[in-house]
Amino acid sequence: MFHQESSQQAPRQNVAFTVAKFGGTSVADYQAMLRCAQIIKNDSSTRLVVVSASAGVTNYLVRLSQENISVVEQTDIITNIRAIQLNITQHLSNNVEQALNAEIDTLLDELSIHALKQSQQYSVKQGDTILSFGEQLSSRIFAQVLQSVDVNGAYFNVQQVMKTNSLYGKAVVDIEQLSVACRELLAPKLSQQILVTQGFIGQDGLGETTTLGRGGSDYSAALLAEALNASNLAIWTDVVGIFTTDPRITEQARAIKEISFGEAAEMATFGAKILHPATLIPAMRHNIPVFVGSSKEPEKGGTQIKQSVASNPTYRSIALRREQTLVTVKSPEMLHASGFLAKVFGILAKHELSVDLITTSEISVALTFDNPSGSTQALLTSIVLQELEQFCDVSVEGGLSLVAVIGNGLDSAKGIGQSIFQTINDTNIRLICHGASANNLCFLVAEQDANNVVEKLHRELFV
Ligand code: ADP
Ligand code: ASP
Ligand code: MG
Repeated sequence: MFHQESSQQAPRQNVAFTVAKFGGTSVADYQAMLRCAQIIKNDSSTRLVVVSASAGVTNYLVRLSQENISVVEQTDIITNIRAIQLNITQHLSNNVEQALNAEIDTLLDELSIHALKQSQQYSVKQGDTILSFGEQLSSRIFAQVLQSVDVNGAYFNVQQVMKTNSLYGKAVVDIEQLSVACRELLAPKLSQQILVTQGFIGQDGLGETTTLGRGGSDYSAALLAEALNASNLAIWTDVVGIFTTDPRITEQARAIKEISFGEAAEMATFGAKILHPATLIPAMRHNIPVFVGSSKEPEKGGTQIKQSVASNPTYRSIALRREQTLVTVKSPEMLHASGFLAKVFGILAKHELSVDLITTSEISVALTFDNPSGSTQALLTSIVLQELEQFCDVSVEGGLSLVAVIGNGLDSAKGIGQSIFQTINDTNIRLICHGASANNLCFLVAEQDANNVVEKLHRELFV
């Protein structure tokens, strides 16, 4: 049984206390929500539930948050979102359905006002407000689904505790404020009820809605687990755990029973969509074990992510991140000169551009950037290029994918290069990074070769 140790303290780890996160497909429709409610009912340690928007809703909202959307399209999108949500509420008792539908319609009326304003005067800030509606809707509905199976669940507005800066679209959470607010506002309530709250969204100091970036609900759940000193974090999704590679790429991918924080963090960083890249940071800081499983097939178990695991194989998994941009800066000045790299990185830092991989030669440096927009102009604006071109030649290549082989002792094991590159010797490798980390070896290939490369490598290293 959960109990609170004192009004000033969050629950201690020695009392089983689970934060459970359910992703978009897990709350996509009524049957999916019902399965999640059953999972919660079967595990009495679950106290806080973090939900994503129902599958498809955030994609609609992304469209709605863009510039120049016609009123006809806005209306269509809102009608589609309404249909997704009302398809769920129709399964609840009449009274509950009516009350929920009234709440949904109030929220959707608000949403349509924001959408109209956005199409007239675009702002990134308003975009975040629009994006937040998916989680606002699903969390209200899911709290009622929980009640319908006799679980004492209630809605909690995460914006009371998830305080962030004002970097709209990619807001940074104030961990200290989160911890204090959880202790004061959330923990006392958890002793009475299971609370259902929103992933992905927060609130800045101006009271404006912010978002943590696509897929951010995993990270929200991990931050809340940390702030509440939870003993477990469960990420319920549509696959039975973390696989040796994305199961959509090869049917031969298989679920991993146990994986270390470090390896799983590398996977998330290098594009394994199963976890938002930042998810494991709070879990590692507070040594909170993370479970990943399928809400469709909870009986199949899943992956346990923890500090240390029984086996540390050389090859653990292969991750793939698409939409990579490679920038090569070249200058004879770099030869024997100090300060060249500092100048390049100074400009990138000024424009908040974060570099992933780096390789250097005598007179050139190659840098890679994650570029989910796919547009090189959006990533490297003409201002950045002009500033760099004042002292070096710059070339930019898009259409690349980053393949990361993840494992243990990759910097010291013999024959790594041969096993990997011989297997894909008919593919042009654009850049290789090896040696900086014992846990990964990364390289870039053309987008169109990526699936084939992962499939072949997986067959060689894992089958
Ligand atoms: P959710 O909506 O539950 O957050 P996501 O779609 O964000 O779910 O993440 C789950 C998906 O991640 C899976 O359906 C799978 O296709 C993809 N994925 C990518 N890499 C892996 C991996 N190594 N193991 C498992 N799933 C992976
Ligand atoms: N609903 C948000 C998204 O689709 C956050 C999440 O699902 O984690 O990106
Ligand atoms: Mg996700």
